Amino acid sequence: VSDPNPLKKLNQEIFVYVARKQQEIDELKKMEVFRREFLADVSHELKTPIFAAQGFIHTLLDGAMDDEKVRDKFLQKAAKSLDGLDALVKDLVALSQMETGEIRMRKDRVDLRLITLEVCEQLENKANQRNTVLKIKPDRMLHVWVKADPQRISQVMTNLIENAIKYGNDNGKVIVHFEEDKKHFLITVRDNGPGIPPEHLSRIFERFYRVDKSRSKEKGGTGLGLAIVKHIINAHGSKITVTSKIDKGTTFTFKLDKAD
Ligand code: ADP
Repeated sequence: VSDPNPLKKLNQEIFVYVARKQQEIDELKKMEVFRREFLADVSHELKTPIFAAQGFIHTLLDGAMDDEKVRDKFLQKAAKSLDGLDALVKDLVALSQMETGEIRMRKDRVDLRLITLEVCEQLENKANQRNTVLKIKPDRMLHVWVKADPQRISQVMTNLIENAIKYGNDNGKVIVHFEEDKKHFLITVRDNGPGIPPEHLSRIFERFYRVDKSRSKEKGGTGLGLAIVKHIINAHGSKITVTSKIDKGTTFTFKLDKAD
């Protein structure tokens, strides 16, 4: 028997088709807004250090060079702005390479404890400047064999530990803790700093999101560190989470597959 109401069926099909197309259009519009905002953000972030360096150099050329003290101060400020620009461009390149899939994550057998030790050594000066101690726990765990991309996971540890030092208190304490279950290692990076207000917590992994804009910039951040961290952890098939308590500290947590 043929459909008693062929028009009704056709009508339904058209309705479903239009709804699906509308959804696709909405997605594209959202992506376009995101792309435009990102471009605006990047331009702004690039302009800031360029204008600053330009300002210092022109002031020097306009006569500030004659006073030795002023000259040194302005040269140092110009250099600091350009260092920031350099870091920003490097982070942008890393992020865009990961997003376009240009860089494939390796799944090597790596000892994350050793990598963390190396990262702590590299950050020793920064920690000393703030009289902050870096600890890896527990002592009895001599190796942490995971499947990971050695360079990328080292970048994750660097960004998390460096943030813990930068945004923690003077005389602070940063603890990297490893815990294992059958198939994974659970990694936590914890500081006892001022913490992150709850209303900001869900947004700190966004590109260029900073809790305290001026304070973060003064500390030399690009605003991309945690976006990169999130990307790398996701590309390892995992997730990163954060918890924080005001005046108690902040903890970042993620899991990695154990290597055989
Ligand atoms: P930045 O380059 O500004 O450090 P990140 O993406 O690494 O950018 O971090 C984003 C923001 O999250 C920082 O600007 C800072 O406000 C906040 N943040 C990150 N880590 C911590 C931490 N351990 N304690 C307190 N705030 C933090």
